[in-house]
Amino acid sequence: MIHTDAVVIGAGPAGLFQVFQLGLLGLQAHVIDALPEPGGQCVALYPDKPIYDIPGVPVCTGRSLTAQLLEQAAPFLSASRMHLGQQVDTLAVDDTVPLGAHRFTLHTDQGLAFRARAVFVAAGAGAFVPRALALPGLNGAPANLHHHLLGAAPWAGQHLTVAGGGDEALHTVLTLLDAPPAQAPARISLLHRRDQFQAEPALDVAVRDALAKGRVQLVLGVPQGVHQAADGRLLAIDLAQADGSHVHTTDHLLVQLGLSPKLGPLSDWGLPMARKQINVDPATFASGVPGVYAVGDINTYPGKKRLLLCAFHEATLAAHAASALLNPDTPQHLLYTTTSPLLLQRLGRA
Ligand SMILES: Cc1cc2nc3c(=O)[nH]c(=O)nc-3n(C[C@H](O)[C@H](O)[C@H](O)COP(=O)(O)OP(=O)(O)OC[C@H]3O[C@@H](n4cnc5c(N)ncnc54)[C@H](O)[C@@H]3O)c2cc1C
Repeated sequence: MIHTDAVVIGAGPAGLFQVFQLGLLGLQAHVIDALPEPGGQCVALYPDKPIYDIPGVPVCTGRSLTAQLLEQAAPFLSASRMHLGQQVDTLAVDDTVPLGAHRFTLHTDQGLAFRARAVFVAAGAGAFVPRALALPGLNGAPANLHHHLLGAAPWAGQHLTVAGGGDEALHTVLTLLDAPPAQAPARISLLHRRDQFQAEPALDVAVRDALAKGRVQLVLGVPQGVHQAADGRLLAIDLAQADGSHVHTTDHLLVQLGLSPKLGPLSDWGLPMARKQINVDPATFASGVPGVYAVGDINTYPGKKRLLLCAFHEATLAAHAASALLNPDTPQHLLYTTTSPLLLQRLGRA
């Protein structure tokens, strides 16, 4: 059980800035995200697209904005306080514990448990989970069926089949072609239902070039069934093709069909919601449950705009409201990072 001032659910832009604002106010936070890397939509949906409407930043990309948010939050966000690849499944309130004490208990699907004084839901449109490939007849979750490129490369030196025909799959194929020898597959197949990709032209051209040079093999077809070993490992996929059927053998299958947000367990946490969004007070971003705040795309209030700069404003006011709630006997003065010795000390810049 990890005891902390705050748990932030979601490491998207709202969640990362929330950690920073809490840190400035002297509140320790742990952040949890279902994705294997931080950044939320910015990294999952548009990592390389230019963003033009961040105040004071004429242009950045989803990935560079995330890198800057992480650097900014670094004084308050050590690796041990960021828990990735974990979905928060439960949030329970113990009403017998007074406000400001550790009255919230959270559990993740990977078995982590937290007890917190305040909770910040920065969950966007829900937890991003990989879209599954329909594999009729599949039993269980084979160890050689993957959905994320990050982390270890269990396919090193083996035959890897990447499934998909969009940006994600093509980007993955190109990344694997550039992988260091110790992580590179010996052979890469790209499995797609037709000989046409729905991807950025530059990715399309690069993958076509790799196919022409024989560095990647294109396998066309729609899965109709699977062959599994006694231990559950995937051995081969039956594919329906235009001219009949084909059995495609592989050592590993990496499904790269993109991500989709799933609101999932959040709707069962007893937070008053309207149309899949959490109702908040726009002065404090407090939800209907005292001590639980909601910031970013997950919340709703009159005039709500799902924009990054609005999420940053919301996280700031939510942090100040929580600080007042958690420290009722401490006067809440507004301090500037430019001039406050306390804030500079917290930032490690004193
Ligand atoms: C294509 C596109 C372009 C955009 N361009 C702009 C732009 O130019 N300017 C602008 O201001 N805005 C833009 N936006 C909107 C902006 O990206 C969002 O407003 C912003 O990402 C919201 O941030 P967030 O942190 O609230 O949510 P998200 O970015 O969605 O992050 C939420 C995170 O919470 C995690 N999560 C949810 N539930 C759980 C759970 N139970 N357990 C663990 N983790 C969980 C998710 O996995 C996710 O990573 C764009 C959006 C899209 C899709």
